[in-house]
Amino acid sequence: MKMKKWQYREMGSRNKKTGKLSYYNVTVVDYHISDCECMARQFRPYSPCKHMKRLHEKLGHLSI
Ligand SMILES: [Zn+2]
Repeated sequence: MKMKKWQYREMGSRNKKTGKLSYYNVTVVDYHISDCECMARQFRPYSPCKHMKRLHEKLGHLSI
């Protein structure tokens, strides 16, 4: 069976030098929040980052 995969854009932190906001793509696979492209995930790949947690708070039907 093919898994459904899609992405959400979550707002990150503001760059102190440029003042620009950063955005991260959070990946959802079959209603499970599975990954985020931010640095925190590269350091701690087995714990959800704040973007994944925030998406989970907004969209309660998704698991994390
Ligand atoms: Zn993240």
